[in-house]
This record gives sequence, C-alpha cells and structure tokens, in this order.
Amino acid sequence: MSALLVREKLAILSDAAKYDASCASSGAAKKDSLKSGGIGSTEGMGICHSYAPDGRCISLLKILLTNFCIYDCSYCINRSSSNVRRARFGIDEVVKLTMDFYRRNYIEGLFLSSGVIRSPDETMGEMVEVARRLRLEEKFSGYIHLKTIPESSAELIEKAGLYADRLSINVELPTDEGVKKLAPEKRPETIRLSMANLRRKMEEKAEPTLRTKKRERFAPGGQSTQMIIGADKTTDDGILHASARLYGSYHLRRVYYSAFSPIPDSSSSLPLRKPPLMREHRLYQADWLMRFYGFSQPEILAGSSDGMLDLAIDPKLAWALRNRGRFPVDVNRADREALLRVPGLGTKVVAKILETRRYRRLRLEDVGRLCHSIAKLRPFIIAEGWSPGALTDKAALRGKIVQSCEQLALF
Ligand code: SF4
Repeated sequence: MSALLVREKLAILSDAAKYDASCASSGAAKKDSLKSGGIGSTEGMGICHSYAPDGRCISLLKILLTNFCIYDCSYCINRSSSNVRRARFGIDEVVKLTMDFYRRNYIEGLFLSSGVIRSPDETMGEMVEVARRLRLEEKFSGYIHLKTIPESSAELIEKAGLYADRLSINVELPTDEGVKKLAPEKRPETIRLSMANLRRKMEEKAEPTLRTKKRERFAPGGQSTQMIIGADKTTDDGILHASARLYGSYHLRRVYYSAFSPIPDSSSSLPLRKPPLMREHRLYQADWLMRFYGFSQPEILAGSSDGMLDLAIDPKLAWALRNRGRFPVDVNRADREALLRVPGLGTKVVAKILETRRYRRLRLEDVGRLCHSIAKLRPFIIAEGWSPGALTDKAALRGKIVQSCEQLALF
C-alpha cells in the first residue's frame, strides 16, 4: 500500500471513529455543502461535540489511531475481515494534528480510540504515549478522552488515567451472550474486571495523600461506556437492566447507546436494518429517569407487554399512563419525588414550583408558564382552581395527548 498523506489518513480514521457514540452529536439532519457549493455540512467527520464534566459543550478531534484490527467483531466496520480502506497514524502525527487544530481554535480536545494492532498492550501503549506527550511535552491542557482496551494491562490503564480527563471501556452489547456471539474474541468478564479496576483506582486517587494532603489527578471526568443497541434481540428492558447494573457496580458517569449501523458484507446473524433513531432517544430518556428522577430500573417498563419503550411517547408519560392510580398529584402539596414523576415536569421546573409555592398557591396557568406545554400534564395534576376529574382515567387519554403534542410540534 502506498504511503498515505496525513489528510487521507484523517479522512479514513475520522470516518471510522464516527460509529463511536460516546461523544456523538447525533440526530442532526444530513446536509452536505459539497453538493450545494455552499458552506456548512453535517456529513463530514472529524470534529464532534461533547460535554465536559462541568456541563460545557466542547468540540473534539475524534479519530482512531488506526482502523487495522486483529479482532473480528461482526458488528464493526473495522473488523479484520472487513473490506474497508485502512490507515494508521503515528504517535507524532496525532500529537501534531491535535496541537495544530487546537492552536487554530478548531477544537478544545481529543477523543482517541483505536482498532487493536498486534496486541492490546501495544495499542494501548501508543494511545497512552499520545496523551503523555500532549500533556507533558506540549503542555496541552485541553480535554482528552481515551477509549481503553480492556484486555490491556492494568498498569497501562492506570497510566492512561494520569493524562486523560475521561476513560471509557466499551461493554459492546447488553448481554454476555450477545458479546460471545458477535464479538467472540472479547470476554465480558475481562471488560467488567477492567471497569472494576478503574473504579477502584479512581476511588483510591480521590483520597488525599498523606504527604501532600492533595488528591492525585486521575481521570477527573470519570469512566463511561458504550452499548450497541439493535444488533441483537435484547429488549429495552434488558438494555436498561444492563445499564442500571453498570451504574451501580462501576459508578459510570454515562452509558451511551449507539444504534447499530448495518455494515457492508456483514454476518447473516446481524439485522439488515438500523433500529429507529427514536429508540436510541427513548433509551437516553429512560436512562435519565433512572439517574435524575428517582425511578428504579424495573419500574420503567413494569406492566409493558413486550419490554420495549413506546416510540411515540416519552418513557415518563408511558409510565404515568400505566400507573394512573398515582395521579393526579397536587402541585401545591406534593413532595419533590412525586412532582418529578409528573409527565412534562423536569427537574428545573420542579425546583421552581417548590420555590414559588412558598409564597403563593399555583394555578394551572402558573405551571403552564414554567413548562413548554401543559397538554401532557393537565390530566396528571391538581392545581388551584384545577382538577382533572375523570380525565386522568379516560381510556382515550394516550391518543389525545399524542395528538396535542403532534399539533404543538407543527408550530
Ligand atoms: S476490537 Fe474494536 S475495532 Fe476491533 S473489531 Fe472489535 S469493535 Fe472493531
């Protein structure tokens, strides 16, 4: 293969990195300015947006070190048997690209992942070296997210934590059976062990040392993971069960859900179609309910006939419709936990309700002013001068709410 220019490598290795959802700005409509002759394109790869631990949106150079890989995970475009064009960056090239882009103000950080070349340790060693050189030689203080390779040594992963802001280890699929079937060279127990070691190391480093009385810097953005959805038959309930276990056992900051993308010449055990993007969105909403709204995982889909999230309505509304006995909730008396369960009330609105009702009683219009729309919440609340009466228990309630939400979306 003739030597590739850095620009060509960048095109190949940033395109190959787009399948990683851990920092994706997915959901935007596709627009390609190359065809129109204008400017502004959402199809190009290379720079993506992510959120820093303090909530800031930051742009990252998102690339693979290489898309050569000795493994053959059947859902992956970079698997060894895939017929894609291959490229490999050298350590110097990634360091230079990052610094050049940073100096030109194109990016605020680097997201670096890789296929596995020769051995997990060798690949991880090169990724750590990129981060080390950026931090120590280039004095780069931007954001670094390294995707770690679970089979690499604990020492290398520990070193990665010294230089990176965030580390992630992909669990790949929601069940062990799925991993064994579609990524036979990977061992779910090794992935879990790697996450457990990382958690232990983070806790250890969070303690002030006896000598300096300071905490050591170690992956301050925590660890995250990515799960591919729709490549096997796991239901949304099964996916959320796996996420709840990951949050509980390894204190992950985020579980990212990446809808499986059909790839050329794929194995017959994989579906031919991509799952709807809305499924990914509903899983993120349900994940949010577990982390910020006090829902336990089994509650979210309890009573559902197929263990799947309703694609037409959000998971909180779907839950409320299945649990109408818990409504209506009085916005002037209910505690925070009960208010958080009302469809349409987010954490900020609930905080405002609690604050405002210290001075006066809230009417339906007052709550409406705090929310985007009252269509969703009218049947589920009692307010000064408002009671939903029989509306909460109406058989046709779901259809009515969906209709009014659709109408609202037209304006
Ligand atoms: S190890 Fe990673 S890059 Fe290699 S085939 Fe599996 S998922 Fe793809």
